[in-house]
Amino acid sequence: MAEQRVGVAYDAHRLVPDRPLVLGGVTIPSDVGLDGHSDADIVCHALIDATLGALALGDIGRWFPGTDEWKGASSLELLRSTYDRVRELGWSLGNADCMVVLARPRIAPHTDAMRARLAAAMGAAPAQVSVRGTTGDGLGFAGQGEGAAAHAVVLVSR
Ligand SMILES: [Zn+2]
Repeated sequence: MAEQRVGVAYDAHRLVPDRPLVLGGVTIPSDVGLDGHSDADIVCHALIDATLGALALGDIGRWFPGTDEWKGASSLELLRSTYDRVRELGWSLGNADCMVVLARPRIAPHTDAMRARLAAAMGAAPAQVSVRGTTGDGLGFAGQGEGAAAHAVVLVSR
């Protein structure tokens, strides 16, 4: 029987003009983007943190501190680096599910592209990676478009 571990995470960033909107490693056409030290890709950040949580390895700030080394970094590359470490420890992805709360634009046309890129970075198949969106129904900072949030659950096994 394989050993399994599960982790959960949440991430949020502010939406501002003149920044690209990068979600799951895919740049989505939008007049606003997420603000942050890196590309502020909340999907990758939540998946990294959920993975670190599953293995009790601390949090994303410990592995990728807000130093110049990671300034402007592609979060997809941080996810890839995380999974290099996961595999060194003998683990691999079982499945991941990520829920994005974003008022607009709709992400549904882009989720298959995100799943392909995320899966490649995680050393898995797209069928193991789910990304879905909800608008937040006008409620709270994400529903009102001040920012966006992502919730993720990750299962790893060895
Ligand atoms: Zn983040």
